[in-house]
Amino acid sequence: MAEKTADRVQQEGSPREPGASPRGAGRPILVQKYGGSSVADVDRIGRVADRVVAARRAGHDVVVVVSAMGKTTDGLLALARQAASAGAAAPADPPRRELDMLLSTGERVSMALLSIAIQARGFEAISFTGSQSGILTNDRHFDARIIEVRPFRIEDELARGRIVIVAGYQGMSYRREITTLGRGGSDTTAVALAAALGAERCEIYSDVDGVYSADPRVVPDARHLPELDCAVLQEMAECGAKVVCAQAVEWARRSGVALYARSTFDAGPGARETVVRRSTAGAQASRARAVVAEGNVVLARARGGHRLDEVLRAAGELGIGFRDLSFGDGGGALVIPLLNVPDWQGARRTLAALLPSLELVEGLASVSVVGDGLAATAEPLIRFVEVLSRAGIAPRLTVAGPLRLGALVGAAEAEAAQRLLHASFVAG
Ligand code: ASP
Ligand code: MG
Repeated sequence: MAEKTADRVQQEGSPREPGASPRGAGRPILVQKYGGSSVADVDRIGRVADRVVAARRAGHDVVVVVSAMGKTTDGLLALARQAASAGAAAPADPPRRELDMLLSTGERVSMALLSIAIQARGFEAISFTGSQSGILTNDRHFDARIIEVRPFRIEDELARGRIVIVAGYQGMSYRREITTLGRGGSDTTAVALAAALGAERCEIYSDVDGVYSADPRVVPDARHLPELDCAVLQEMAECGAKVVCAQAVEWARRSGVALYARSTFDAGPGARETVVRRSTAGAQASRARAVVAEGNVVLARARGGHRLDEVLRAAGELGIGFRDLSFGDGGGALVIPLLNVPDWQGARRTLAALLPSLELVEGLASVSVVGDGLAATAEPLIRFVEVLSRAGIAPRLTVAGPLRLGALVGAAEAEAAQRLLHASFVAG
């Protein structure tokens, strides 16, 4: 059966080269990732199947990573919260281990449906979960990091001439527990696999045609960015840009895999895309590339009295990631994005009990200008502070580095701040 299809595939467009390696026909490997909106219903899954088959016909060995259908992950999360709070006096957090068991099912649905759709088109395909694909992670449930990728089964199936479909966003810890990789983590699966398989490139398909200089829903004159450096995109993603997840860009930066961010349904000749590569250029002149924002962040402030190691240990035990840490003898601060903290209600109570003088400020958003060389002179930071203060916005915290100028503002001020900073730094 496999051979029959492999013959047909060859006839249809990829002649086996003499002396080719046993894997496929020595064809270059292409990893494609399709986001939730691209696989939102069976009709769209069929259109994705057509694209995958076209890539196979064009002579690639194809590995496809899928997200869960549409808003499935949000729906499952809501069900878990409902189950956790049923019978409880106050809203309660579901246990992270069970969340991972639940959320990982979303991607299993789309992987199987896509494999079925590809087979219906006469091509051999097989779907694998994250653990079957050899994605090994640490044991931080809900926000696990990939430690190692051992894609042996994928390589075997490619060698048999099959198209391999992988459930994104999930892996297995060394304790053989199912883990998930943080929201948006299917991108990370795709890039980590591309690196491990020595893929030519990794294509990230979604409902937008690449990366913009701001969120176009907030900043109408946001510009499309045709090319970007990995380090800049990683900084953007870490501070709220949604197109590609930050861990995925980090893998790309470390491994040198080139990323192509494209729109699923208007990707043809002439369609726009963003190409993301490790920069080979030397130090660049100061240049702002984008304005990004992230809602739902918490500012944690310790006014002396707490040692840094106490705060960090507590955050580590609670499985809370943070950024923008600064500490000195008068106290310190750090910023906690809540996107990958599903149990903040409980975590907040634990932190308050453990570290009574730690102040937690909620209802904030972070707004950042991201680019190159932003700390080369004081001018960009001075401008950043002035733009906000002229608008009557007084940040709770301001941070500055070569790739980013950032401020924590009230959630209600975030949109105005994005528009003003974009006008001054990117459009101006
Ligand atoms: N389905 C997961 C999420 O919604 C992972 C992903 O889409 O990449 O976050
Ligand atoms: Mg996504």
